[in-house]
Amino acid sequence: VPPGHTLDRGAAREPPARSGSRWRRRIPWSPGRIVLAYALVAIAWVVLSDRVLDAAVDGRASGWLQTLKGGGFVAVTSCCLFVLIRRRDRMVRRMASEVRATIESMGDGVLIVDGRRDVVEANQAAGDLLGVPPEELLGPLGAWVERFELRTTAGEPLALAQLASSRALAGERGVTLSAILRRPDGRDVFVAISSSPVVETEDRAELAVTTLRDVSAARRLDELRDDFLSTAAHELKTPLAVVKAYAQLLQRRVPAEAQALLVIERQVNRLTRLVQHLLDTTRLELDAHGRPRERFDLGRLARDVIERTRASAPRHAFTLEAARAPVVGDRERLERVIDSLVENAVRFSPDGGAIDTRVEVLDGAVVFSVQDTGLGIPAERQARVFERHYRAHAGRPDDYGGLGLGLDMSREIVARHGGRMWFESEAGRGSTFHFSVPADGDAS
Ligand code: ADP
Repeated sequence: VPPGHTLDRGAAREPPARSGSRWRRRIPWSPGRIVLAYALVAIAWVVLSDRVLDAAVDGRASGWLQTLKGGGFVAVTSCCLFVLIRRRDRMVRRMASEVRATIESMGDGVLIVDGRRDVVEANQAAGDLLGVPPEELLGPLGAWVERFELRTTAGEPLALAQLASSRALAGERGVTLSAILRRPDGRDVFVAISSSPVVETEDRAELAVTTLRDVSAARRLDELRDDFLSTAAHELKTPLAVVKAYAQLLQRRVPAEAQALLVIERQVNRLTRLVQHLLDTTRLELDAHGRPRERFDLGRLARDVIERTRASAPRHAFTLEAARAPVVGDRERLERVIDSLVENAVRFSPDGGAIDTRVEVLDGAVVFSVQDTGLGIPAERQARVFERHYRAHAGRPDDYGGLGLGLDMSREIVARHGGRMWFESEAGRGSTFHFSVPADGDAS
């Protein structure tokens, strides 16, 4: 399983982890113990009372004495039951108020949703987050979806079944998602929602505890950063193009300095690639919607990319095995993914290294793979390779630079196509990166 693909429905059936709670032990006299004590007292009474009475009145217990004895039994056991049940009841009430106080004291909004998808408890923080008194949050979850116009961060409406609480009630553990809610005052809030099932039966939970955290401020900062990066990258692109054009012109006009000018051109290309990566990542965030989708052959696309890379990295040995592989998707974005993977293979393998690429159709999916015989990635750093800004070779002698954006962006693009990305790698022997996207209907 590639890193990041960890949705494991099997986990939903594991018993909940035991936490350090003493509440269970603080409740005195379980119902079983109360009934057992009652049964023992009753048996002792039945067996002994007649004998004691007979002995006391010398075998002449009259009817009213028998009645008195029965009445005594009822009175004694009722008193005992009353005391026990009252103690238990008090303890349960105290625990309930402790739980309430705990929920109330939490900075995050907390909702408790029951098996019928009704919100049965909401704390003040949840009310503050949504701009309504917490009592107004109680009731069917379906009403929530409409009232607060629940949407995904891409703006798509969220259905009731997609809500974190619904998924937790269906047995999914540790569900997290981001959503946008519209408060009655018209303000949109970005919330990180997480939900967990509480009392589990076979497959369903009886309760779900859901927390809501306002991440609007973090989101605004992200947007500011992306806007800034996007503007900066745009501004850098033009002068870079001009420097490159002049370096190429001078190579023709001043042959004596051709070598130095070639170095300038290569470095400018490198800078341009970095700027392009920055631009791609920020654009990816901005235009999640409305990207053109078309039907095309991913095999052909890979061929184009390899031809281009072959020209810019003449010292590597490329091979390509490409089947006809029709897909429907964003051609430009998928081209960036292939570009990025092939470029990494070139950067992280020595000159003369073999770079073998392949496009095949397997079980209804088109799989692209690129194998290199380069540095590889040490096992202990592999888990983080898809993280944004992570560079597995940073600060080492074989650090070839980069911004650590390519794989994060590629995985996001592939995920948006309903596909996945994974790799195998061994330090010193090389790496193979793969991604798969659904093949279009009549793929053969
Ligand atoms: P960058 O732009 O820095 O290359 P990526 O997100 O593309 O960022 O890659 C992240 C890190 O993963 C790289 O810095 C490198 O350490 C490692 N990596 C990626 N591809 C390969 C490869 N083919 N061989 C070895 N290491 C790789």
